[in-house]
Amino acid sequence: MTPRLPCRGLRRFNAPFTTVGRAVIPPPRRHASQSSPSPSPSASTPPPTQRRWLRLVFVTAAAAGVGALFRSQQGPESSTLNAVTFTPYCLVSRESVSSTGSFFTLRPPKSDGSNHEVYEDAWRTGVWSVMFKQPQLQIGREYTPLPSTSSDVDGDDDECLRFFIRKDPFGEVSRYLHSLDIGTPVEVRGPRIECEIPPETQQILFIAGGTGIAPALQAGHTLLRRTNQAEHPKIHIMWANRRREDCAGGMNDSPTTLATPQTSWFSSLKMPKSSPPSVDAPKDGEASLIVRELEALRAQYPGQVTVDYFVDEEGTGIGKQSIWDSTNTALSSVESGRRNLILVSGPEGFISYMAGPKLWAEGMELQGPLRGILKELDLKDWAVWKL
Ligand SMILES: Cc1cc2nc3c(=O)[nH]c(=O)nc-3n(C[C@H](O)[C@H](O)[C@H](O)COP(=O)(O)OP(=O)(O)OC[C@H]3O[C@@H](n4cnc5c(N)ncnc54)[C@H](O)[C@@H]3O)c2cc1C
Repeated sequence: MTPRLPCRGLRRFNAPFTTVGRAVIPPPRRHASQSSPSPSPSASTPPPTQRRWLRLVFVTAAAAGVGALFRSQQGPESSTLNAVTFTPYCLVSRESVSSTGSFFTLRPPKSDGSNHEVYEDAWRTGVWSVMFKQPQLQIGREYTPLPSTSSDVDGDDDECLRFFIRKDPFGEVSRYLHSLDIGTPVEVRGPRIECEIPPETQQILFIAGGTGIAPALQAGHTLLRRTNQAEHPKIHIMWANRRREDCAGGMNDSPTTLATPQTSWFSSLKMPKSSPPSVDAPKDGEASLIVRELEALRAQYPGQVTVDYFVDEEGTGIGKQSIWDSTNTALSSVESGRRNLILVSGPEGFISYMAGPKLWAEGMELQGPLRGILKELDLKDWAVWKL
């Protein structure tokens, strides 16, 4: 099985923020002055002073109008999410999901409907992210907006974006985000398409580790909204976590034998086994917010969503057998015309273990050859993409 290219928009994990985007579109003032023609060099019949003055007023006003329009659309004060400049969203809530992760809700500066179009384009396409800027260090990190579900209190009318963000105790941007007071502005740029889900896709197996569940929810949302009388696409999500509290209340859809006891990929990482709790964990018996999101998706599309939870501290991990069982029921490539897609998302070590590392070449992140347990399984009917 060779990875094919349904996806685009490759970007290094933790790519530092640069001002490349700003260089593409110069500052609005420059545009305005460029629009002003220089005075006519004609020497034989100079225009009357009044007419020249009127022309100058007209040109200046037009330039100012273009400049204002440009600034409102793309400039530093943009109220609409765009991929060129940062838009000042406002942190309206932060709710703990586990001792290490929280749910963030960010509201755009204006809820005039303009963001809906931007979001909608991205939702139609596939998996997408936005970049948050840490203003003191001038660095940025990508985060994955969660789709709206029934558990959304305000609905999506307010054009808010929601995120599940893990607090890395040594991470610059995630620590910064977890330290912000409610009401603080957060600068956001995007969207950036990480992976296009081809229209002919019928089945997705999403292998997620930790916060890799956010793109899994996105992929589910994009795929399943294509459901109609003729098409009933399906998604199976395998979600691995270190601790049960990360997926509290999650119940497996597959038989328990799927979650094979084995050495987890987590144990091969150098990261501390348990980082100090930083935010409140969900109370006993309460399903975590992300589990509730997954259940909402399942309830919205009955029979089309299955989820299995793998927990490191319980000695269960995503292994060859569980992937094999999950892919075994899929249509063959001959029947399906390669409509089966495996997406892998999570920390670097997780992706490497499942599908081999991504590579860097000429300043770009590339998929790299397929390796890891997915290569060993040699699933010919499935295309693989590493997120
Ligand atoms: C497309 C995309 C979508 C993403 N979506 C999400 C999401 O929805 N939710 C989410 O939580 N995350 C997401 N991420 C990950 C996120 O972008 C950040 O990488 C993550 O929050 C960590 O960033 P940070 O600045 O806090 O940590 P960093 O400062 O980048 O540090 C990360 C780790 O590296 C270690 N480190 C840093 N520098 C060094 C060094 N010099 N030597 C040794 N170790 C070092 C730190 O100790 C830390 O443990 C996504 C990433 C991508 C690419």
